Amino acid sequence: MLMDPEIKARLISSGTVELPELLRPSGPVSAAGPGAGEMNVFFRSGGTRVRLGVADTSTLKLAELDGDEVAILEDGVEVARGYLERPLIHCPRQAYITVSERCIYDCKFCAVPKLAGTVKSKERVLGMVAEAVDTGELEAISLTSGVERSPEEEVFRVAEIAKDLRRFEVPIGVSVTPAKRSSEILKAAGADEIKYNVECLDPDLFRKVCPEVSLEKIKTALEKAVDVFGDNRVFSNVIIGLGESETALQEGIVELAEMGVLPVLRAVYPHPLRVGEVEMVRPSPERLTDLVRRLKRVLDDHGLRGDVAETGCYRCTGCDLIPHRDL
Ligand code: SF4
Repeated sequence: MLMDPEIKARLISSGTVELPELLRPSGPVSAAGPGAGEMNVFFRSGGTRVRLGVADTSTLKLAELDGDEVAILEDGVEVARGYLERPLIHCPRQAYITVSERCIYDCKFCAVPKLAGTVKSKERVLGMVAEAVDTGELEAISLTSGVERSPEEEVFRVAEIAKDLRRFEVPIGVSVTPAKRSSEILKAAGADEIKYNVECLDPDLFRKVCPEVSLEKIKTALEKAVDVFGDNRVFSNVIIGLGESETALQEGIVELAEMGVLPVLRAVYPHPLRVGEVEMVRPSPERLTDLVRRLKRVLDDHGLRGDVAETGCYRCTGCDLIPHRDL
């Protein structure tokens, strides 16, 4: 059976899979994305993919079939069959690199401040991308970054790196905390797409989960970003499962689309480093599917498309149901 939107929603809702020892991924663990610091696999089936965290126990189990084929089983029953995809850097076919693996903010669902990792130099990032080019698989570069000292400094750091990455002649996406004139600076540096994450569209909840950040400032930056980057080139992560009000969520999605922004509806990942700090409940498959169907209608109403993204999560599709790509 191939993965369809309903099956993908089931897999995303679970979020994890058990793997036979032989299929366990080796090599460095990614510092980007919801499962930062954890092992992941990418399962491809039915023309789409899903990223699942590797867990010692999960309701989902991966089984080897003939050749390269694998199946995902739930209670011993096959849910979908397909192939495992090799990530290039963090995800398949992209060099998705976290520049500063640390953050001065303390958003309650995010592992980055707790992991307090390294800050990569420009030379290191260029070296990583050059290695990715050598595989012949590189189709896009996505840069993301926490905030080591200030958003302004981080924008400058990422812009300097983006300028040098132009030489690889693939699309570049950037996801950072917005700062003064950040869209103009990053566009001039060569970024093609931009993501400023609102994370939570419920203003009351936002103040609790991101106490040091302003939701209004991020929305203002997003509006400006559309002026600079154009339609279908500006994205914003919205976490689902923090206990947000459904009304605030729906209204917020429409508000983003009215600005020309594509929301990335992302199931919360209850990172072990954050468990107990905030409500984090993975949404049900039905809620995920319903939300993304509504999102697709909202995008259609505003003339936006989810299938033209050249970088980042709308291109990868590993963590989310993506309107116009998955359904
Ligand atoms: S959808 Fe985004 S966060 Fe998830 S694996 Fe792909 S690039 Fe990473």
